[in-house]
Amino acid sequence: MNPQPAGGKTFDHGSLSGELEDEPLQNAPSAVDLPRIERAVREILAAVGEDPDREGLRETPARVARMYRELFSGLRTDPRVHLQKFFAEKYDEMVLVKDIAFNSMCEHHLLPFIGKAHVGYIPSGRVVGLSKLARVVEEVSRRPQVQERMTEEIANLLIEELQVRGVAVVIEASHSCMSIRGVRKPESICVTSAMKGIFRSNLSSRSEVMNLIYGKA
Ligand SMILES: [Zn+2]
Repeated sequence: MNPQPAGGKTFDHGSLSGELEDEPLQNAPSAVDLPRIERAVREILAAVGEDPDREGLRETPARVARMYRELFSGLRTDPRVHLQKFFAEKYDEMVLVKDIAFNSMCEHHLLPFIGKAHVGYIPSGRVVGLSKLARVVEEVSRRPQVQERMTEEIANLLIEELQVRGVAVVIEASHSCMSIRGVRKPESICVTSAMKGIFRSNLSSRSEVMNLIYGKA
């Protein structure tokens, strides 16, 4: 039988390129302080020896402030809500959404890292809409991040909110902080994975999900 009704499906997540709506939460940190970012950006420009008042730079602090509001919008949303609307289903084989494009900001350098996430789980009575998995990836990525923690966070959210027999999260990304500065290795891709439940304990389940992700099934 075919164990992959959702495997192999490429989830086209178009909204990553657009401006996100702000959906402030009840107990979320206060709204982004745009004027404060603007002042800080002016300071950085002056500190590197630029003239923040020259024509080309005049609008830059405000533009950067709005950009940070967008890139860090995940600080004001709770990805859990997307996993709390589930359907009761008898389906108990693997569900895998591959190639969820994301962009995040490395918290060590505030430079982007860009890549794809693959999120799989084996349900135990509850499934969520496939787009919800992409939503979770997006919101977790829109914070100051490190790829290792992001991988764990996504896996833990699924474990905590769904009843699952296993969760597998694999993330591949290229990091600007490695390609444009420091060691300058533009070709390198960083791969992280978090295997939970049956994907950790059972070698054949783990091989199955890796084969589905990397297309050798
Ligand atoms: Zn970095």
